[in-house]
Amino acid sequence: MSKTNNAEKVSNKVYTVGLKAKRPSDSHQKKIEKLAEAIGMKKFDWKNKLVAIKTHFGERGNSAFPRPTLIRPIVDLIKAKGGKPFLAETSTLYTGSRSNAPDHIETALLHGFGLEVTGAPVFICDGLTGRSGQLVKIDGKHFPEVSVASGIFEADALVVVSHFKGHEVSGFGGTIKNLGMGCCSRTAKLAMHTSIRPSVLEDKCVKCGACISWCSVNAIFQEKGSPAKIDQKKCQGCGECLTACRANAIRINWSGDAGGVTEKMVEHALGVVKNKVGSSFYFNLLVDIVPVCDCYGFTDAPIVPNIGYAASLDPVALDSASVDWVNQQPGLKNSSLKDGFDPGQEKFPHVHEKIDTKIQLEYGEKIGLGKKTYERVELD
Ligand code: SF4
Ligand code: SF4
Repeated sequence: MSKTNNAEKVSNKVYTVGLKAKRPSDSHQKKIEKLAEAIGMKKFDWKNKLVAIKTHFGERGNSAFPRPTLIRPIVDLIKAKGGKPFLAETSTLYTGSRSNAPDHIETALLHGFGLEVTGAPVFICDGLTGRSGQLVKIDGKHFPEVSVASGIFEADALVVVSHFKGHEVSGFGGTIKNLGMGCCSRTAKLAMHTSIRPSVLEDKCVKCGACISWCSVNAIFQEKGSPAKIDQKKCQGCGECLTACRANAIRINWSGDAGGVTEKMVEHALGVVKNKVGSSFYFNLLVDIVPVCDCYGFTDAPIVPNIGYAASLDPVALDSASVDWVNQQPGLKNSSLKDGFDPGQEKFPHVHEKIDTKIQLEYGEKIGLGKKTYERVELD
């Protein structure tokens, strides 16, 4: 494995700020500014640097994606120091409102990520249709090299602003997922998903047909009066149909994969940061902590109350601290955590049963992406 030495070169301190307003000037933008200063962004030499700010514009219909106004303080800081920030995204694997550059930009603008709000232009970094990638050698267990979105690879610095929440494939989604899945080309996304192939449990299927229209590649079909079926040759393994089925009749067979998809995603994250060691900064927004990704065109009930914001130079430490921060909260009973769960109890394994939520952190540490252990510093 070709290590980035990210884990050895950057601090594993994680700075956090809660949502309580302790003084009239305590706006959410000020909280982001404080975090940016704490992780050294004010001292960094931004002059003439092209800076990719990777966030998530949200699928149309979703409302849990990061607020564009929280991006503004980061953009202003970089611009004030002579940098050239842009909002970086990549196309999705599945058909939707973000599967090519024009659609994606339109969605970004509809969701408030215009120049007048954020102060930075939107750039879809893997080209018009997601095929523009730069191969980065990593010598991983799954991949010798990974295809990083060209615009992100070529950027001089990277700031990742992630909405922290559950995820239907990797258990939770935060910085590691935003790097591994969000910063890579369509080729890379396909390569990561190759081993996921869901199937329908015939005895559970209530034959409603709801899953059929969700599948962007028409891999699901239904003969009259019969349970739905998935054409395994057509299926791209995106996992969208799992959420579409309210009868819980679509399942991924993990036995042959054992977390392989998540490990592949972590290897891609390593490829993304390989040329950004010392020039990448990470934020997790722990609000609207819903069960699944912002790639869905709806927003479910949050599983815990809104918590706060966190930032670090170490993506693994940041996600590790974020998982712990979520677990310290009480579970909300009107959510997917039907039984609530007390502070101190794990939350994500009860939202996504059968998914090993620890793989991202453990494999991330193993391959040198960052450290699972962290020192938490609470800002006032
Ligand atoms: S959504 Fe679920 S229950 Fe409905 S047809 Fe598809 S697999 Fe069957
Ligand atoms: S995982 Fe489901 S929605 Fe995605 S391509 Fe396969 S059948 Fe279609």
